[in-house]
Amino acid sequence: MEIVRDVYQIRLPLLFVPLEYINVYVVRGVEGAILIDTGWNTPEAFSALEDGLKGHGIAWKDIRQIVITHIHPDHYGLAKKIREYSGAAVAMHRIEAGLIDQRYVNFGKLLREMGRDLYRNGVPLSELPGLEDASLWMNEFVMPLLPDVELDNGDRISNGTFEFEVMLTPGHSAGHICLYEARRKLLFSGDHILFEITPNVSYHPQSGDNPLGDYLSSLQTVEGLKANLVFPGHGPVFNSLKIRVEEIRSHHVQRERVIMKAASEEPKTAYQIATEIPWIPDQGGVGFQNLEGMDRRLAIMETIAHLRLLVVEDRARRIERDGVSFYLAE
Ligand SMILES: [Zn+2]
Ligand SMILES: [Zn+2]
Repeated sequence: MEIVRDVYQIRLPLLFVPLEYINVYVVRGVEGAILIDTGWNTPEAFSALEDGLKGHGIAWKDIRQIVITHIHPDHYGLAKKIREYSGAAVAMHRIEAGLIDQRYVNFGKLLREMGRDLYRNGVPLSELPGLEDASLWMNEFVMPLLPDVELDNGDRISNGTFEFEVMLTPGHSAGHICLYEARRKLLFSGDHILFEITPNVSYHPQSGDNPLGDYLSSLQTVEGLKANLVFPGHGPVFNSLKIRVEEIRSHHVQRERVIMKAASEEPKTAYQIATEIPWIPDQGGVGFQNLEGMDRRLAIMETIAHLRLLVVEDRARRIERDGVSFYLAE
């Protein structure tokens, strides 16, 4: 679908619920096309991309640059294969580049750290093995490669027609970037701002100490931008950046309230708190007991992200007992 002149959205299938597909974007210019994000490495995603390109008369060799907003499998998994087909240079923020080896190549250490973090946050030993490697299955959909170009905040990416500014927007991932075209007032937001769902922000071994604090600052980074259209990694293109930022912010305020309340009577672990609060508000609130595998882990990790921010803001206290962290709201 051509959304504005020379900007095409191609939807590639995923196996997530509720994320049924990822949007990748092709931006054409006089010096070739830029592909923003890639989909993950399944035959279905690859052929959907191939068909999409063909449908718009874009050949592999027309793609000169591939920009990865962040290295989650759905955005990055196909990068290597597309690079082989197109010869395009792959670019991403240097922080994301630094996470690849630990996440996708030598991931034993990361799994041990994940297990350690889950244990510290009160996950019962019986649940540890299942949660520790709950996202490992996705590695199968990633062909890891290091980027040709490591980006920094403020770098420019041009194809002679469009000029993007690289905006570092950590939170959803530590080196997540958005791309902003100031002249045309277009924002490519990756998973930083989505229209229909609230992007996940979790604490994990690669998230940094205070991912939710980072995320909220990154909302500030983009909310003042003049954007006529926002092109997200999932869901529809939209034009209400400021309103959407407000909605996401109030979602976090609401969740924080529930977490504060759960932690207000006695010190509790993140796990205990996660079991007490409703998840997936879009579906009317789902009990922790009904979450499985990765969703369950995300619920715990998201709770930790909230608790860590509350500690930074002096609104909660962390109490260590026998290697386990308990939190008490002040
Ligand atoms: Zn993501
Ligand atoms: Zn995504």
